[in-house]
Amino acid sequence: MRVEGIETPRRILLVFPRYTSSFGTWEYAYPLTDGIKAFMPPQGLLVIASYLPESWQVRFVDENLRPATEDDFEWAEAVFVSGMHIQRQQMNDICRRAHGFDLPVAIGGPSVSACPDYYPSFDYLHVGELGDATDQLIARLAQDTSRPPEQVVLTTKDRVAMSDFPVPAYELADVKKYLLSSVQYSSGCPYQCEFCDIPGLYGRNPRLKTPQQIIAELDKMRECGIGDTVYFVDDNFIGNRKAALDLLPHLIEWQKKHGYVTKLACEATLNIAKRPEILEKMREAAFVTIFCGIETPDPEALKAMQKDHNMMVGILEGVHTINSYGMEVVSGIILGLDTDKPGTVDALLKFIDESKIPLLTINLLQALPKTPLWDRLAREGRLIHDDGRDSNVNFKMPYDDVVSAWKRCMELAYEPSRLFARYLHQCEYTHKQRLKVPVSPEMKSWKNIRRGLVMLRNIVWKVGVLGPYKREFWKFALGRLRHGDIEGLIGSVLIGHHLIMFARAASSGRQNASNYSLRLRDAQVPAE
Ligand code: SF4
Repeated sequence: MRVEGIETPRRILLVFPRYTSSFGTWEYAYPLTDGIKAFMPPQGLLVIASYLPESWQVRFVDENLRPATEDDFEWAEAVFVSGMHIQRQQMNDICRRAHGFDLPVAIGGPSVSACPDYYPSFDYLHVGELGDATDQLIARLAQDTSRPPEQVVLTTKDRVAMSDFPVPAYELADVKKYLLSSVQYSSGCPYQCEFCDIPGLYGRNPRLKTPQQIIAELDKMRECGIGDTVYFVDDNFIGNRKAALDLLPHLIEWQKKHGYVTKLACEATLNIAKRPEILEKMREAAFVTIFCGIETPDPEALKAMQKDHNMMVGILEGVHTINSYGMEVVSGIILGLDTDKPGTVDALLKFIDESKIPLLTINLLQALPKTPLWDRLAREGRLIHDDGRDSNVNFKMPYDDVVSAWKRCMELAYEPSRLFARYLHQCEYTHKQRLKVPVSPEMKSWKNIRRGLVMLRNIVWKVGVLGPYKREFWKFALGRLRHGDIEGLIGSVLIGHHLIMFARAASSGRQNASNYSLRLRDAQVPAE
């Protein structure tokens, strides 16, 4: 649905802020591709674009692809911005630039919803999800596009049901420039892990779209030329197991109809390993990756962070079960927990080798507002507000020891031979468990073959000839070539190269130890 009853035409500029370099920005992988420049198109702004009145013109700029220009600001009558905490400085910078053109600027999305006081310069704060606050914002701008004399805070009390969400305006995004496409089926998670802000922001009872909406979104993505992999950005794909089971047959049918050219990925709790009926259907729907927040292999630590559900099945056993359905596991890991000991990093490295998980996002603990962790640390006087640090937590172990442990962990986990050993397992075991699908005309199209050849050429030249770990690369690459596994070679090296290069930068202190840290970000983009 879109908002109705507004006739006044308006021109709205939607700007998504740039990310500065971090583990999840994948910038070392992009030069190996055929022109990819950014991670995922932003769902939130594209949904807003579809929700605005029909008579309103919309221009969308993702500053990860190009900066908003003078022409964009001159064209616009109002600017909308959205983003996460890590983009805070950049969001404030967009606001400053828009104010240079005397435009009213509204901010929505997860960061302002959790921390409105981070954004004192914006004219409109949209706190919460799509709903009555959105309607009020639209009504105000329909009446008047001058800047209000003081900040106006609009808070959603009545949310638009997800089953009424419009299809995101994927047509506005330059879709071929993204590594992944995204879709959202549900919002919210029934668990309450101590560090996580999802239950506080989006609730514990997952709200849902209908399977028909998801199929319409996938169809639209195909029309817009969206590429290989679609990521379900749901907080927990099995937050409502029945809903997951309702959706999967529709995805299977959609994949059959389109020749399985799209791979699927999602985030889910590790206890999905106890649900063979879900895993089997995910295999049939061509899910190839699940991100699981394993966080730590230490049971005592899992208990302390209220993540006991990770122990419903042995962690290594759970990872193996998921692999046996053809899906790679990507894992979140946290260092700096109260339960960490001097031997934690060694135990973690042992777990990484044994689990054979190639890609782990290893972060320092950060307390996010609206989490039980934030409240506890505030009570204990252990929150540190100092952007010069990599974390706002006063760890139980000395800060320098924790940061050194993180650097050591990054260096060893992404040592090339160690990483390629893990990828080899995925190629030789996990990938072989996947559904055997016939090669469709789209898969063997010249466009597809050309794309593969461009990536292969870039990989051979930039990693195999010019790269800093040639020996390990060729050992892995020749093995894959001997098996005719070009897909495994390209997929592993593309991501693996980023991991290796990022880890080298991290262990030498040139990267932050937390995706939330502002330490290196201040210098790059001045806030207003
Ligand atoms: S299971 Fe995941 S999404 Fe749910 S509360 Fe825990 S960390 Fe957050």
